[in-house]
Amino acid sequence: MSPANLMKFCSACGHPVEFRIPPGDQLPRHICTQCGTIHYHNPRIIAGCVPEAADGRILMCRRAIEPRLGYWTFPAGFLELGETSAQGAARETLEESQAEVEVDDLFAVIAVPYVSQVYMLHRGRMKGVHHGVTSESSETQLMREDEIPWKEIAFATIYHGLKFFFEDRARGLRGFHEMNLTARAPSRERSEVS
Ligand SMILES: [Zn+2]
Repeated sequence: MSPANLMKFCSACGHPVEFRIPPGDQLPRHICTQCGTIHYHNPRIIAGCVPEAADGRILMCRRAIEPRLGYWTFPAGFLELGETSAQGAARETLEESQAEVEVDDLFAVIAVPYVSQVYMLHRGRMKGVHHGVTSESSETQLMREDEIPWKEIAFATIYHGLKFFFEDRARGLRGFHEMNLTARAPSRERSEVS
């Protein structure tokens, strides 16, 4: 969807908006023709975590909802207002898998500018052994690396996140990875390890 089509009416007063560059700005914005409110639209943050069980397996969820219904992911979802990325990742994990996690450090930030999304992915540790299906997941399963269904992963961001996670762990490192995904091909901007 082009930015111009994101809004038709002012969310403050209900009158039509127009799409033009406000004085002193660089980009066109939705500006109310009645009350003058300038509405800004910015990228959305998706927070997630790779929940690791005590035996090293990680918790994967089969999506029960569109998009990508039936495909696998680790828990991740849109950050809510007022949350940190770690709080969002813990909440999403509970909502998608019933599992309680201790959310650890950030290991990847993956930008997807063509859909205006930024993924913030954390390592996480399961607090217990419990997990199970929810309204968002038709199946939840602890998997070893060689059990990951790589051809059935829901999103490219999740695929690359899993690769980073396992590569770092195999080397005994807690790395940090920055990546930009374009519609054509991923570009790996920067990886750090500590
Ligand atoms: Zn208005």
